Amino acid sequence: MPEDPTRTDRRSYLKYAGAATIVGLAGCSGGGGGNGDGGNGATHEVPHPTETVPEPEVTAQALNGQSRPENPNQAKEDVGFEHEPNGDQHCGNCGLYVPDGNDDEYGACTVVQGTIHPCDWCNLWAAYDGEDTVPCES
Ligand code: SF4
Repeated sequence: MPEDPTRTDRRSYLKYAGAATIVGLAGCSGGGGGNGDGGNGATHEVPHPTETVPEPEVTAQALNGQSRPENPNQAKEDVGFEHEPNGDQHCGNCGLYVPDGNDDEYGACTVVQGTIHPCDWCNLWAAYDGEDTVPCES
């Protein structure tokens, strides 16, 4: 008995519909970019020109008034660090941000190691709404 032709059509449809679904899902899995673009929306030089925190920022105060310890204990790779804001959140409006102290556009952080641009972001972001927030200007 010959195969029902509509049965083959259904099989083809299911095959291609499945492939389309996989392609669609791949498009959504950006790999952790704060704005869903896979981290390709960097607003400044990546990697940062240096990861050495300059003297004026080493033990300077963060926006929230806390002093930065000489050796913060969080590595960027452990806190979901991104080189772009996550919606309205960015380092410049995080209470833990230590503003730029040597006019190189990069500051530091009281908990995360290395240099920090005000447009960076990590998953330790702590809301700060004082008047001295640092805008993210790419
Ligand atoms: S968002 Fe993260 S890296 Fe940026 S200042 Fe806040 S705690 Fe530090």
